[in-house]
Amino acid sequence: MPAVNGQQYIDRIDQLKTNIWHEGKKITGKISEHPAFKGVIQSQAKLYDLQHRPDLKDLMTWKSDTTGERIGTSYLPPRNSEDLEKRRLSIQEWAKLSCGMLGRSPDYLNTALMTFGTSAKMLEVQSKQCAQNMEKYYEYVRENDLALTHTFIQPQVNRGSFYIEDSSEIIAAKMIDQNDDGIVIHGARLLATQGGTTDEIIVFPSGAQLPQIDGTVPYAYAFAIPNNTPGLKFITRESFDYGKSTFDHPLGSRFEEMDTIVVFDHVTVPWDRVFIHGNIFANNRLYNDSGFFPHTTHQIVCKSIVKSEFLLGIMQKLIDEINISEYQHIHEKISEVIVGIEALKGFIYSSEKQAKMNQWGVFSPDPDPLLAATQFYPKIYPRFSEIIQLIGASGLVSIPTEADFKSELKPDLDLYLQSSMSKGEDKVKLFRLAWDACMSAFGSRQILYERFFFGDPVRLATNLYNKYNRKQFVDRVNEFLKSDSP
Ligand SMILES: Cc1cc2nc3c(=O)[nH]c(=O)nc-3n(C[C@H](O)[C@H](O)[C@H](O)COP(=O)(O)OP(=O)(O)OC[C@H]3O[C@@H](n4cnc5c(N)ncnc54)[C@H](O)[C@@H]3O)c2cc1C
Repeated sequence: MPAVNGQQYIDRIDQLKTNIWHEGKKITGKISEHPAFKGVIQSQAKLYDLQHRPDLKDLMTWKSDTTGERIGTSYLPPRNSEDLEKRRLSIQEWAKLSCGMLGRSPDYLNTALMTFGTSAKMLEVQSKQCAQNMEKYYEYVRENDLALTHTFIQPQVNRGSFYIEDSSEIIAAKMIDQNDDGIVIHGARLLATQGGTTDEIIVFPSGAQLPQIDGTVPYAYAFAIPNNTPGLKFITRESFDYGKSTFDHPLGSRFEEMDTIVVFDHVTVPWDRVFIHGNIFANNRLYNDSGFFPHTTHQIVCKSIVKSEFLLGIMQKLIDEINISEYQHIHEKISEVIVGIEALKGFIYSSEKQAKMNQWGVFSPDPDPLLAATQFYPKIYPRFSEIIQLIGASGLVSIPTEADFKSELKPDLDLYLQSSMSKGEDKVKLFRLAWDACMSAFGSRQILYERFFFGDPVRLATNLYNKYNRKQFVDRVNEFLKSDSP
C-alpha cells in the first residue's frame, strides 16, 4: 500500500475505537470529531496529504523495495549522504506545517522503527523469532504507513535509587506471564503522547534491568500492539485545546497533541509482536546498538531548527509591530536566538558530514554533535520563550478574544490596541500567537516537552559524558606535561 493520505489516516483512527478516557468519561463515537482531538487530527492529516503533493512527492516518499509503491521518507534507511539529506529535508517540510509544534509527528517513531527494523538481527540474542518479528513489524508499519505512539517510562512513584516496587501490588507495567498465546503485561506506563490519535503503540525498554531474586526479568520487554487491543486503556490529561477559534488559540486549536497514561490490564501480546521477553542483554543494549540515538536525534534537531525559526519569526514581527528595533538589548536578544539556530544547524551539518555506515549497513549521522544538541536545546528553548515575553511585555496580555472583535467593542479595540503598523485586530492576532507559543497552557507544555521529551537531561548528560571520546585530549595533556622544552 502506498503512503496514506489525510482522509485514510482519519478513517483508520476513527475505526479503531480505542479505549480512551477523557475527563472521567470513555470516549465513544469518532475520535476525529471529539473537541479535544479534532484539531490535532486535522493537522496530522495535512502531514499525510503533503506526501501526495505533486511538487513534494519525490522528497516526501521513496519507492518501496518490497512493493514498488511510494512510501514515506521517514521510513527510509539512509544508504548514503543523499538519503540523509533527503530525510532532513522531508522532516523539515513536515515540521513547517506544524510550526515545529508537533513533537510526536509520525516521522519521529517511523525513524525509531527504521533503526530497530534494520538492526533487528541484534534481537537474535533473545531469539531468531523475535528478530524476525521486529523485521516484519518494521515492514508492516512502513508499507501501511501506520501512526505510532510509544512509552518508555515507568510511573513516577519513587525515583530513589534503591526503590524496588512491592510486587504484591503492580504499578509499573510488567510481564506477569508467558503462555502459548504470548506474554501478558499488567500495570501502567508513561507517557504516550498522541496515545489516542495513532494506530498502534510500541513499548520500549524502560532503562537497564537486573534479574529479580527469583531469576526473572519482568521489566525486560519490548513489543508493539494495536491501540484497540483488549485490556489496553489510555487516560488523557486535561486538553489544552479549549475548542476556541484559530484566532483565539492559534496553536492550541491546531497542534494540541494529547499526553496519555497507558494502562495494561492483563494485556496479552501475541508472540509475533514480541521483540524482547526477559533477555537482559537485548533490553539493555537495544538503544545503543540499534542506531536509535543518531537517527532519532537527527529527526529531533531537524525539527527543532524549524520550530526555532518560527519563534524567531514571531519575535521579529513583535519587534516590527511596536517599533522597538532601535534598542540595543533587542538586538542582543535576537542575536541570542540566531546563535541558537545557527548552532543547531551546525550540529546537524556536522553530524551529516561525519556520518558513517553502521554495522547494519545504515548510513548514520555522527551521534556526538546530536547528543550535544539534546543537551543544548532544553536550555535554549525556555530562553526563547522568555525572550518572547521580554519583547511582548503587556501586549501578551492585552489580547481580547475574537468574540470581542465581533462585538460593538471593535472600534475601541481597533483604535486603542493598534500598533505602529496594524489596526487592533491584526495586532492582537499576532500577540495571541506569541502568547500561545510561550504562555498559554499549550505554550507551557511546549517548554516542559522540550525539557524532557527525550529523557531526563541530567541522565542524558551522563550518556554524553560516557560516550564522548576524550582520550586523545588527555594524551595531548600528558605529552605536554612530559615535555620540558620551553
Ligand atoms: C510533554 C511531555 C511529553 C512526553 N512524551 C512522551 C512520550 O510520547 N513517550 C514516552 O515514553 N515518554 C514521554 N515523555 C516522558 C519523558 O521521557 C520523561 O519525562 C523523561 O524521561 C523524564 O522522566 P520523568 O518525567 O519520569 O522524570 P523523573 O525521572 O521522575 O525525574 C524527576 C526529577 O528527578 C530527577 N531524577 C530522577 N531520577 C534521577 C536519577 N537517577 N539521577 C538523577 N536525577 C534523577 C530528574 O533529574 C528530575 O529532576 C514525555 C514527557 C513530557 C514532559
